[in-house]
Amino acid sequence: MRPLAALVLACALAVTLAPVVSAPALARSEALPYEEIPALPIDWQKAGDETAALLSEYIQVDTTNPTGNEKAGADFLATRLAAVGIPSEQVEHAPGRSSLIARLAHTPVAGIVSEKPLCLLSHIDVVTAEPSRWPEGKGPLSGAIVDGVVWGRGALDMKGLGAIEVQTMIELVRLGVPLRRDVILLAVADEEVDNIGMVDIVAHHWPRIDCSQVLNEGGLGIKDLLFEGQTVYGISVAEKGLLWVRMVATGPAGHGSSPNPESAPARLRRALVALDAYDPKPKMHASLAQLFHNVGATRGGVVRYVLNHPRMLHGRLLAENAGRALLTDTINVTGFNGGLAPNVVPSEVSANLDCRLLPGTTPEAMLARLRTLVPDPLVRFDVLDASLANESPVDDPFYRALARHVVGGRTDAVAGPALSPGFTDSLLLRPLGVHAYGLAPFEVTVEQAETQHGHGEHVSVENLRNGLRTVLGAVIEVAAVDPKHPVPAAPTPN
Ligand SMILES: [Zn+2]
Repeated sequence: MRPLAALVLACALAVTLAPVVSAPALARSEALPYEEIPALPIDWQKAGDETAALLSEYIQVDTTNPTGNEKAGADFLATRLAAVGIPSEQVEHAPGRSSLIARLAHTPVAGIVSEKPLCLLSHIDVVTAEPSRWPEGKGPLSGAIVDGVVWGRGALDMKGLGAIEVQTMIELVRLGVPLRRDVILLAVADEEVDNIGMVDIVAHHWPRIDCSQVLNEGGLGIKDLLFEGQTVYGISVAEKGLLWVRMVATGPAGHGSSPNPESAPARLRRALVALDAYDPKPKMHASLAQLFHNVGATRGGVVRYVLNHPRMLHGRLLAENAGRALLTDTINVTGFNGGLAPNVVPSEVSANLDCRLLPGTTPEAMLARLRTLVPDPLVRFDVLDASLANESPVDDPFYRALARHVVGGRTDAVAGPALSPGFTDSLLLRPLGVHAYGLAPFEVTVEQAETQHGHGEHVSVENLRNGLRTVLGAVIEVAAVDPKHPVPAAPTPN
């Protein structure tokens, strides 16, 4: 068994673990056994290369946020879709900042009401980068393809999956797959900073989308995560909630030469020390327990026993920062405000607190906890943002299809549900009743996963090819009129 540090590190990257074919959640599956999934008449080598070329060009469109400039990215994707006849529209949230909505319509069948659409979601923006820290010739906006690897900001987070989703739409058209429900591609602006794209779409444009299931970012496949030679694909089904507050201390202003325990800085210092007394109860979310169970199903003896009794792992998980983030509500001091001159005592100073909440903890409950820890009446908590945790069921055909296709019949890989300590746009969609699943279908090392938001982000062409196979296969399974025969027979020559 690998050190839990690796697991915990991967979890910190919003990745969590997933289940094996024999997992209870999959036992009820009515979907096709893997061996009955039809082979598609696709040249996968060519399709993978085409996806890589698309990603390379997409990376070269600068959508670094801030400022985002997502309209340029939306225009690029729209052109690629239009080339095979897929119409799209753009929603402008601010000058230069657009999201793209494209739709493949279902084939109406008399007397049958079509299911709600399936949505392939991505964000167009990428985070900033320090080009001087990237490898020579493989910079953040290069899109360089070297030795079967595509380099650039967004390769993993998340232009890579965005490119796969666009290629999936293109292949559905080329194959002529008759659909029983609309398949919508949604590429949004500003996931990385303020979520203005998805907030605007949810508030003003949702009726045009109104999908029941979404594929989004959230999980990855991590090589050798718990055991050498085994890859674990975490499909994010749940995301922690948040409470962002400014802890503001007030007191008399004065001269720095005369310390006063009643001053605002003195009160803030005591409040920060008081926060150290926070000792939350660990709670293992059902997805994580299921993950351990699924990995355990591939093992025997003591290892299997321990993985089936995850409370035995609490101590080790709590010893790691990322493990604690998975098992507990957290309070993180992320910054300070106030007081410019060293000899002037200001009347107000504050600290920013980023609190992340497990499913079941409300922002109100966390606020009450903070007030109990810091009872000083001259320290107040200004709420900046708050959101409940939420989750989607694993008892869902799309979840099952993703889990099965990403494993692809391999015996050295498992897939299962995961709780993400961070959040994505999925957090905004689940309250609408949408089942949202997070999976970038790539197989990477822990070190490669860390290049997201770091230096030298890259993805292999092989990962793009396998990712396309995963997404296209899962989409056909839940959206084609006949998943067993998704491609119309060629007309018989006469
Ligand atoms: Zn992302």
